[in-house]
Amino acid sequence: MDESRYAAALTLDPEWLADTVAVQAGRPARLPGAPMNEPITLSSTYVHDANIEYGRDGNAGWSALETALGALDGGRAVTFASGLAVASAIADLVPADGTVVLSSVTYYGVRNIFERMEARGRLHVRKTPADDSAALLAAADGADMVWVESIANPLMVVADVPAIAAGARERGAITVVDATFATPLRQRPLDLGADIVVHSATKLIAGHSDLLLGAAVCRADTHADSLVAHRHDHGAIPGALEAFLALRGLRTLAVRLDRAEASAVELARRLASHPHVSTVNYPGLPGDPQHERALRVLPNGSGSMLSFDVAGTVEQTEAFLARLRLLTHATSLGGVESLIERRARYTGDASIVGPTLCRLSVGIENVEDLWADLDGALLAALG
Ligand SMILES: *Cc1c(COP(=O)(O)O)cnc(C)c1O
Repeated sequence: MDESRYAAALTLDPEWLADTVAVQAGRPARLPGAPMNEPITLSSTYVHDANIEYGRDGNAGWSALETALGALDGGRAVTFASGLAVASAIADLVPADGTVVLSSVTYYGVRNIFERMEARGRLHVRKTPADDSAALLAAADGADMVWVESIANPLMVVADVPAIAAGARERGAITVVDATFATPLRQRPLDLGADIVVHSATKLIAGHSDLLLGAAVCRADTHADSLVAHRHDHGAIPGALEAFLALRGLRTLAVRLDRAEASAVELARRLASHPHVSTVNYPGLPGDPQHERALRVLPNGSGSMLSFDVAGTVEQTEAFLARLRLLTHATSLGGVESLIERRARYTGDASIVGPTLCRLSVGIENVEDLWADLDGALLAALG
């Protein structure tokens, strides 16, 4: 598809700030009678002799979304069917018998991809603590890729991306940052030195819990080209409707995130002094050991995710979750509705979190209603 079709919006004004870019980028050029939004193109095949001849080659809706995401992160975006489809394609950038340094606190699906590749003899994995840049870089000697998630799931660990990316580069490794929790509005990892950013757009970017979609944003064209080839050859393409809805979601990301984040800060503060809560993980909370790093790496805010340990048994934690009426007990995150779950239910996470850790995705409901629900259920379940 003709990328220049969106160039008008992309180059309109380099002074615009990210929340404006999120609203304006990726729209069709402003010609008389042009639609405001790129229409959904439902076609598996196209008349021959063009860039797009078949449904796996490209789609005008992907291009619109990629234009917007690329502008926000400052690189070239490639969209996929899901966040994990992106992770699989990036994992394939590692050469045969190569080495990946993986921070130990990452989305369990990403750990699965690399661990299964290692089990098949495809590559080697070195795991290091997520918040220890020195250990991470020591492990990066001779490695091909460093993969960190920041803000990391589910303990909200903030990685020192500038130090990690610079150190990895010196050692000849590329740095990949899964920035799903931060979104391009809270962190631009390419500006901090990373080579590729990963977003599960399923979460905050799309924002309504109604689709799966993933994106990589690359500094180098060679990486973007490889990912496009991988998408074409392996077929993990985004749906046309999903791409449209993800871009529509992106239009309101700034207001959704501002609101949810303000509530997350308030809930984190109140939970921290609740008698039935032992620890609260929210980057930048006063007293948080990663306070200073969080403020340095995430100066504009820490997003809408937090987690906390219930000061009780697994049974009491389950009772607390069962008593919630407003928050939904479900996995996933980043939608307008608040979700909560006991993370150790996932065998993949049981090794890195305590049994009563609850992860909370704060939505855009009224914060007082959210608090009344949380506080009421904690008091009812734990006495
Ligand atoms: C959900 C998630 C993924 C996987 O994305 P899908 O769109 O579900 O495939 C990867 N990383 C993080 C941090 C996630 O939250």
